[in-house]
Parts: sequence; C-alpha cells; structure tokens
Amino acid sequence: MTDSRALALEYLKQQRLLGGDSVILAAPPLTPGLRPGLENPTPASLTPDASPGKTNPTRDLPPAGVSFDPPSTDLFSTDPIQRASSLTDVAQLIAACEKCGLCSGRTKTVPGEGLATARLVVVGEGPGKTEDQTGRPFVGRAGELLTKILAAIELPREQVFICNIVKCRPPENRQPQFDEIAACMPFLYRQIELVNPKVILAMGSTAAQSLLNTRQSLGSLRDHIHRFRGIPLVVTYHPAALLRNPNWKRPTWDDVRIAARLLEG
Ligand code: URA
Repeated sequence: MTDSRALALEYLKQQRLLGGDSVILAAPPLTPGLRPGLENPTPASLTPDASPGKTNPTRDLPPAGVSFDPPSTDLFSTDPIQRASSLTDVAQLIAACEKCGLCSGRTKTVPGEGLATARLVVVGEGPGKTEDQTGRPFVGRAGELLTKILAAIELPREQVFICNIVKCRPPENRQPQFDEIAACMPFLYRQIELVNPKVILAMGSTAAQSLLNTRQSLGSLRDHIHRFRGIPLVVTYHPAALLRNPNWKRPTWDDVRIAARLLEG
C-alpha cells in the first residue's frame, strides 16, 4: 500500500472512531531519534535496532521525561494493601476504606476493571456520577469516548486495565484534594504492581501529576516518555476535557499512538 493511501485510510478510520472533524495526518518521517524543535535524541533504550527493511515502532519517539520510583512492595510488610495478592483483594480493601472524607459521600467504590494481565493501564482522575452509581470506571460520556480512543489503537476495552487516582467520587465532581489522593495512591501503586503493564496512559493532569509526583503542567508533561517504576508512561488529555474542547482530539490521537507504539516495541 502506498504511503498516501495508508494515510488516507488512517484518517478515515480516525474520523469514524473519534467523531472528529479535523484532518489528522501523520507527520513526515523525521531523522531517527529527533523530534521537531527538540534537540535531545530519543533515549537509546527506546530506539532498538532500526536496521533497513525492519519496521521499528519505537523510532522517532519523544524524549525521556520524569522518572518516579515509589518503593515497591516490601515482602515483610504487614500493610494489607501491600499484602493484597490479587486485584480482587485490592478491590475488597478499597470497598472497606475510610481513610479520607470521600467515603462518606460514595454510593459505590470504583476500584477499576479490566484484564489482570493487561499490557496497558489507563488512569483517570476519579469516579463521576455514573461511575459512583455503577461501581465501574469510565462508563459515562467520557468513558464512551475512552472506549473509542482505545478502539482506534485496536485495543478493546476488555484488554486494558482502567482505573482512577481516587476510588470514590469527589462531591460535585470537583478535583480530588491532596489528602484524598495521598490516602488513595497506595491502592493504585499495588494495582499497577499486580498488573505489571508494559505501558501506562495517564489521562489528565491529576493522573499525570499524581503518578509522576510532580506539579508540572499537563502541557509540559505531554510529548515525553516518562517512567513510573521503570514502566513507560504517556500523558494525554482527559476524555472529559476532549468533550469540552474537540481541538484536543488531534493531540490526544498523537499521544495515544505513541502509547500504541510503545506497546508494539
Ligand atoms: N470517569 C472515571 O472513571 N474517571 C474519570 O476520571 C472521569 C470519568
């Protein structure tokens, strides 16, 4: 298939899946390891063998960003979260949790769902109204869009593990506060440890900043490959933000394709 035909097909597929109206075409090939306007080459660990005739999904990836390594499970710990040996165990601990004020307003806890051996973990901010009522993550309008975004990289929702930074709905869908995030993070740390994905996709600034332990803006965190305990982490817009601002669909598509390439590589 010619390049132009492949691009046209990709464009039509995106239009259908993302419902967007802007033309989204891949940038022309770049010098290996370099991004437009960026001096620093892609880390060697992300640019394996690019011999002629061999497709290299990790070529032209963005530069390395933040690396955050919270301590992993201590085998001798008595902390029940660290001792949880399955996602179901973690969900049971979440269901009983009263570590922050969010527990008083919840209908159901929303621990997360998906494949226990998923290659991709998607992390959002916190449950909304529908999620609070159903106990399932990303099932409202933002969730429908997330499902389409995943379909665009040929990942059915069921093959991914989807969860949030906080597991109980903040009142009126406000942003979770620092103490609420701090109380909830150990659950997410253990979930990621148990799933052990190949890539993490952080959607929105709350997810990105909490997972990377930084206050850098979403704008500055995008277009880098970060690491959470060594696992590549890609930052993109939150689907709810995309519903408000469709112009962010194109950059989101770019980010999600980076995650897809890391999955292939
Ligand atoms: N639904 C979720 O589960 N998480 C979000 O961050 C938004 C909607």
